[in-house]
Amino acid sequence: MRETILKEMVKILNGNEVAKHVKTQIKEEVDKLVGKFGRQPHLGAVLVGENGASKTYVNNKIKDCKEVGFKSSLVRLPDTISEEELLQEIDKLNNEDGLDGFIVQLPLPKHINQEKIIMSINPDKDVDGFHPQNFGKMALDMEAFLPATPYGILCLLEHYKIPTKGKHCVIIGRSRIVGKPMSILMGRKAYPGDCTVTLTHSGTENIEQYTKNADIVITALGNPNFLKSSMIKDGAIIIDVGITRVDDSSKPKGYSLAGDVDYEDVKDKASYITPVPGGVGPMTRAMLLKNTMLAYKNSFK
Ligand code: NAP
Repeated sequence: MRETILKEMVKILNGNEVAKHVKTQIKEEVDKLVGKFGRQPHLGAVLVGENGASKTYVNNKIKDCKEVGFKSSLVRLPDTISEEELLQEIDKLNNEDGLDGFIVQLPLPKHINQEKIIMSINPDKDVDGFHPQNFGKMALDMEAFLPATPYGILCLLEHYKIPTKGKHCVIIGRSRIVGKPMSILMGRKAYPGDCTVTLTHSGTENIEQYTKNADIVITALGNPNFLKSSMIKDGAIIIDVGITRVDDSSKPKGYSLAGDVDYEDVKDKASYITPVPGGVGPMTRAMLLKNTMLAYKNSFK
């Protein structure tokens, strides 16, 4: 008898599709609540300077607002603005009635102390979830604005009903906005979560010894094609946060976007994988809308 080996196909965690679904749900909720509360949710964005990537991110956020029926406003400031002047602008937004939340697009020019700016945002309007008050609440399992990228990953895992309890989750990268909060969230006594978490970074020796034993690997280091198939076990779940612009003369813009995972190498060994682009990125955008919706509802409590 001939033996047939059927290789199970890797399942793509399609962030574009799930984000669309999330946005549809938000739009439906907005349509209902506008009648009840008498106004739309309102998100503000502060953009300092002319950084091309930052402009694109902010424009996308404004486009997303329009799509779900939110009001949005953009405060554009020159990169010559002083720290004091920027703090005054933030104070205005903190006190603006009917503005539910706002973001200050990072990075800021070097002469401005980023930490001081984040600390100055009213935590009730901090829809990026970067203020220490929100980070602390998140760590203590209290309601908080979760940082958008880790929140988006939780939402993806939930959407695809991926079991996480008791799994070993290895995170590469310990940034304040992705790796560190992700490690807290995956270790929570909740779904998605309940994992045994290993947080790795540039000081980790022999990183393969951790990734090879991981059921879930989340890469957030910004090093294109870092994770190879030889570094993971069969059937691992791979979440790629990395987005790096790499020169690519075949593209009209002269670059393409690369993840931290060597997708072609890894995809046949993994059970689930996020593509780049179209994986974590759109989920991050959608979660900012979810946080704004939460701020909007909180403002009527
Ligand atoms: P980051 O602030 O750039 O920090 C990178 C982290 O990776 C650091 O903790 C660093 O370790 C660690 N690291 C660097 N090289 C390493 C190596 N060879 N082995 C192990 N760890 C290493 O991180 P980030 O802001 O989280 O960004 C990471 C990537 O995600 C970037 O490509 C960024 O563009 C992307 N990103 C994507 C989204 C999205 O929506 N998809 C959102 C945010 C960020 P140390 O702490 O020891 O320096």
